[in-house]
Amino acid sequence: MADVPPRAIADATRVVTAGRRAEWTHDGQGRGIVNPPVWRASTILYDDVASLRAGARQGEPHRLFYGRKGTPTQWSLADALTALEPGAAGTFLYPSGVAAIAAALMAVLSPGDELLLVDSAYDPTRSMALSLLKRFGVTTRFYDPLVGAGIADLIGDNTRAIFLESPGSLTFEVQDIPAIVAVAKTRGLVTLLDNTWATPLYFRAIDHGIDLTILACTKYVVGHSDVMMGSVTATDDYFAQLRDTSFQLGQCVSPDDAWLASRGLRTMAVRLAQHQASALRIATWLDTRPEVARILHPAFASCPGHDHFVRDFTGSSGLFSFVFQGGDDAARAAFIDTLDLFGIGYSWGGFESLALPVDPARHRSATARDDAGPLVRLQIGLEDPDDLIADLERGLAAFRGTMA
Ligand SMILES: *Cc1c(COP(=O)(O)O)cnc(C)c1O
Repeated sequence: MADVPPRAIADATRVVTAGRRAEWTHDGQGRGIVNPPVWRASTILYDDVASLRAGARQGEPHRLFYGRKGTPTQWSLADALTALEPGAAGTFLYPSGVAAIAAALMAVLSPGDELLLVDSAYDPTRSMALSLLKRFGVTTRFYDPLVGAGIADLIGDNTRAIFLESPGSLTFEVQDIPAIVAVAKTRGLVTLLDNTWATPLYFRAIDHGIDLTILACTKYVVGHSDVMMGSVTATDDYFAQLRDTSFQLGQCVSPDDAWLASRGLRTMAVRLAQHQASALRIATWLDTRPEVARILHPAFASCPGHDHFVRDFTGSSGLFSFVFQGGDDAARAAFIDTLDLFGIGYSWGGFESLALPVDPARHRSATARDDAGPLVRLQIGLEDPDDLIADLERGLAAFRGTMA
C-alpha cells in the first residue's frame, strides 16, 4: 500500500488504503492484519538507557516515546487524513473539532495580531475569538462570507490570519477561496479553513492554497455519531509549529477513539455519495413546496456563492438548510416535533437524519439576514429518501396546521 504513488489513485480507493502501513499491521514474517490494532499506552518501556535516550529525540514521527505522543493507532489515522490532502506535510489529531480549531489558531497567532474571521463561522469558533483569543491579546474582525478579493480592503498592519469556513454550516454561503488565498499569499497572511462540510473528498483544501485545514472528524470521518474528534492538516510551512503548539498544549486522542474514526473513514466515500444523492433529492423536493421560500444548499442556484461551489467543489454532502415561507417559531417547532425519522439534536455527519431549528441572525456582526420565515437545518442520513420525504410531508402538514 505504501508503494502506491499518492496521485495515481482515486479518493474512494485512498480512504480504503491510506494509513495501513505494513509496519503497523504486519508481523515481519509475511503475514499481516487489515486494520492497525488498538495500541493503548501511557508508559512506553525501553530496553535500555541507550534506547531511552534515542527515544527522546524530538520531531521524529512514528516513534514510540510516551502515550501522549501517540501509538500506531493514532499515527495511522493521521497518516490517512494527510494522504487525502496531497501536498500536505502532516496531520495532528484533537479530542474535538473545537480543540482542533483552538490549536490551529494558537499555532499561528500571537498577542497583537488581528484575525479576520468569516461572519458565517461555527458559533463556538466565534466565541473562542471573542473570549479566549481576546484574552491573549488577539483582536478579531468579522468579514462577509462573500467578500472574495475584497478581503484586501480589510487587511491592516496587524492582520496575521484569515479564517474561512465554506460553506457556513447554518446558512451555507460558499466562499471564493481562490480569491481570498491569492490576497493572503500576496500580503503574507496565513489561511485556515474549517472544511468539515465538504471533507477533503469534495474540497481539496491544500491544493487550493489553504495553509491549515481543519475537520470536525466527529461528523463525516467518524460517521456514526459516537466519537468526538478533530484534525488539522497543514503544509510544510506550518506543520512544525502546529505540532509543537499541540504537544505543548498536551493534546492527544485516545487510541480507541482513533480506531473508531479510522473505521469510519474506510466507508466515508460511499457514505458521502449516498448523503449527497439523498440530500439533493430531498432538497429538490422541498424546493417545489409552497411552505418553503428558499433552499440553502450549495448545489442550488438560490445559495449565495453557488458559482464558487460549481467551480471549486467536486461534490456536496448531506447537510443543508431551508427557509420557511412565513410561519413563526411555533410553526417551525410543530414541523420538527412531527418528524419521526429525524432526530432533534446538534452535530451531524452520522448515518441518521436530524432536524434542527437555527437562528443565524443571532451569530452575526458583519452581515444582516432578511429571511422570509424561520430556518431549519436538515442532516440527511442513510435512510431511504422516500421514507424521509413522507416524514417531511407530515411535518409540513403540521406546519400548515399552525397557520390555519
Ligand atoms: C461540529 C463542528 C465543529 C466542532 O466539532 P466538535 O467535534 O463538535 O467540537 C466545527 N466546525 C463545524 C463546521 C462543525 O459543524
